[in-house]
Amino acid sequence: MEFPNYFADADANYNEADYVIFGIPYDKTSTFRKGASLAPDEIRKASWNFETYNFKTGFDLKNLKIHDYGNLDVKNLEPSEMIKKVFNFTKKLLKDKKFPIAIGGEHSVSIGIINAFPENIAVLSLDAHLDFRDSYENVKFNHACVIKRISEHISINNITILGFRSADKEEFLDAKGKNLFFIDSFDIQQNGIKEAIESIKNRLKKKKIYLTFDIDVLDPCYLPGTSTPEPFGISTFDVKEIIESFSDQIIGFDLVELCPKYDTGISSILAAKLIRLFLEKKIIINNK
Ligand code: MN
Ligand code: MN
Repeated sequence: MEFPNYFADADANYNEADYVIFGIPYDKTSTFRKGASLAPDEIRKASWNFETYNFKTGFDLKNLKIHDYGNLDVKNLEPSEMIKKVFNFTKKLLKDKKFPIAIGGEHSVSIGIINAFPENIAVLSLDAHLDFRDSYENVKFNHACVIKRISEHISINNITILGFRSADKEEFLDAKGKNLFFIDSFDIQQNGIKEAIESIKNRLKKKKIYLTFDIDVLDPCYLPGTSTPEPFGISTFDVKEIIESFSDQIIGFDLVELCPKYDTGISSILAAKLIRLFLEKKIIINNK
């Protein structure tokens, strides 16, 4: 069966939409396994797997006005040009009062998006990695440097990282020295996701939050299809808890680093489901 080439239920036009999904098929700086540029279209395909109705909540995704813009044409650009293009597009979305939902692509795409937001927002990064290197392979906009670049726009006190479990020594000590707030996956396993969420809430208070979701935060057994898999990750239920706890504060999000080449098919299904879960939670908030 052939499915439409847009994200399921994202059938509103641009002008009427409140939420705009767009793909950023970019993987030029990926180091270990390339292929994240194929993710937006794979996730769109996978999105047709699900019911629009949620029996738990009684809400239907058809009740939200979602537009799928398609993919930005960035594939062959240099990292800095790609970021500029993503920045300009996100600026336009914000000016038009749209809620941005980006599908990467590698993690470096988030720099362009977040730079388009005002600098007084907070950032929550779900990631197996700190991404706090100053440069990697001489590239400042490498996917291993995302949080470092973001911290040049957003105060480091308002950036939090959840689920990390791998860092370079210099990177780790630099992050610690600058008081970057992070909770590793081992602590989450030990103390539970609720406690981790509480400490992030205490840190960020009622601030508006941009969520950048590097999908390798999930354990590779849930999500094998990613560019730099790292064992001992968090679970799907942990991620559900995080999305549900923060969604009323979230003003934009991206999902990055899905790598369909290494997928059995289940990773793109899960990625599509998590986007849908977030949107469903927004319906509940809108209906309060
Ligand atoms: Mn990352
Ligand atoms: Mn990562």
